[in-house]
Amino acid sequence: MARRKLIAGNWKMNGRRADGIALARDVAQRAALLGKSGPEILVCPPATLIAPVGEALKGASVALGGQDCHAETSGAHTGDIAAAMLADLGCTYVIVGHSERRTDHGETSAVVRAKAEAALAAGLSAIVCIGETLAERDGGRTLAVIKDQLAGSVPAGATAANTVIAYEPVWAIGTGRTATAAQVAEVHALIRRELAGRVRDADGVRILYGGSVKAANAAELLGVADVDGALVGGASLKGDEFMAIAAAGTAS
Ligand code: PEP
Repeated sequence: MARRKLIAGNWKMNGRRADGIALARDVAQRAALLGKSGPEILVCPPATLIAPVGEALKGASVALGGQDCHAETSGAHTGDIAAAMLADLGCTYVIVGHSERRTDHGETSAVVRAKAEAALAAGLSAIVCIGETLAERDGGRTLAVIKDQLAGSVPAGATAANTVIAYEPVWAIGTGRTATAAQVAEVHALIRRELAGRVRDADGVRILYGGSVKAANAAELLGVADVDGALVGGASLKGDEFMAIAAAGTAS
């Protein structure tokens, strides 16, 4: 089945207002050059920059997303953001369960699933991140960990339209190490098979790869079977590099 690729930039905790606006404008200009055969482009700025970046992206074919949301709709949760608040600022996506959230904030798959369900309830699409640590890979547990995280994190009511899975081996995030094409193919095939038992239109669900994706390795990674795009951290902070990755995902 044909799935339009998604190239998503996770800006993490980077940027001041002027940097965010300049980067958003740069991405928007480059996205306009990609044309209709290009992938869907998404940027996920830090919470402080969502509003100005949203303004800068007005009229551009670049989607806006959050990096996290709370599972509740409102209330006494200091420092947190509800999914509906992201939607209110023009976001259409939110990343949930990024390994940095799982590690830094102790988020379990149950928490991630609750956040993803809150995202869906607010009309957002959830990008659900899963991935094994180096110890888990070295211990031969990669496929078991992925199955487990998927089973625990995929939201009830997931469809191809509202849910994206991002496979991000923890050892490849921000390290300059990427999984090999064979490693990516093995895990993405497993995710596709596992989704079949959980999501009605599983064939249409996009599965992104994330972990040190850059312009130089994008074509190879995006060419692997069942890789429907990329979740990009460091390289999404440079407009030319990020959009070179997007160009590698353009259908020929
Ligand atoms: C990420 O944070 O999701 C990520 C993949 O980061 P990087 O591209 O920097 O490895």
